[in-house]
Amino acid sequence: MSLPRFEYRAPGTLADALAVRREAGEDALVMAGGLTTVILMRERLARPRLVLSLSEIEALRRIEANGALSIGAMATHAEIVRSPAVAAVAPLIAEACGHVGSPAIRNMGTLGGNVCHADSASDPAPALLALDAEAVIAGPRGERRLPMTGFFQGTLTTALGGDELLAAIRIPRPAAGTASRFVKYTATTAEAFATVTVAMTVVKDAAGACRSARIGLGSVASTPIRATAAESLLAGRRLTREAIDEAARAAADATSPSSNNQGSAGYRREMTRVWVRRLLEDIAAR
Ligand SMILES: Cc1cc2nc3c(=O)[nH]c(=O)nc-3n(C[C@H](O)[C@H](O)[C@H](O)COP(=O)(O)OP(=O)(O)OC[C@H]3O[C@@H](n4cnc5c(N)ncnc54)[C@H](O)[C@@H]3O)c2cc1C
Repeated sequence: MSLPRFEYRAPGTLADALAVRREAGEDALVMAGGLTTVILMRERLARPRLVLSLSEIEALRRIEANGALSIGAMATHAEIVRSPAVAAVAPLIAEACGHVGSPAIRNMGTLGGNVCHADSASDPAPALLALDAEAVIAGPRGERRLPMTGFFQGTLTTALGGDELLAAIRIPRPAAGTASRFVKYTATTAEAFATVTVAMTVVKDAAGACRSARIGLGSVASTPIRATAAESLLAGRRLTREAIDEAARAAADATSPSSNNQGSAGYRREMTRVWVRRLLEDIAAR
């Protein structure tokens, strides 16, 4: 099916893109890698007068580690997987991006497009939640930062205003000795959307007790979520079998999955418990 007619603009700077966005308002559709946007237009679910492509804004592709790690919104999943800066500061996000769809999807799809689409089944999103990442949002009044926990607001809905653009994702340097783990579990093929995605970071003290834990879950609620009750149960405790089982149960209790081709709601909740337990056991063993 062909695409409906639209005006196409691809400014070279973020300032110009913001000006186009402000001027066109609801009539503009922002395009990053185009994977979702083109499907929306082809299926006539979106009929924008103007497509605002961010593809010519070089600054939005940058990946830099000056203290914190900054990943430009237009960096592709494949670029993140290959980035030495990402590997040095937050390999968890590279691992998550490496599990997105197929090589073609990773080459075209961007981290910004992935999180702005706000699909609960996003694979990078749970990793960003576990890494305490922030969205760097550009708008007419300048830049603001928002923790990713507040960025995802509902099914396919973010906290971005109609005159704003996601500029980058900022990931603070994890504390020394932070252990991180990621799993994308699918009931079908590795390239499918997940039954459940679990990402976690755990900081242990010298005695081996858990100082803090962050657990991000994908595909098991209307948005990617943090399992905060499970995190609280772990804080200050040794990672014993009992503590791990309690936390895994609390993580499963935090979910509200729907049934789909990746499993029934009950199965997805149970797989959440199983994978949170397994990843915590793996961290406890090292
Ligand atoms: C066949 C297929 C399989 C996939 N499998 C997976 C998978 O296994 N795991 C997974 O996590 N994802 C998967 N995805 C999603 C994919 O990874 C992309 O993230 C997603 O399609 C959008 O990325 P994009 O760069 O193409 O963004 P686009 O499609 O261009 O944009 C997506 C949305 O974000 C908005 N947007 C984009 N960038 C910005 C910005 N900087 N500021 C404001 N708004 C913006 C757009 O307006 C649009 O609403 C899959 C997609 C497809 C088509």
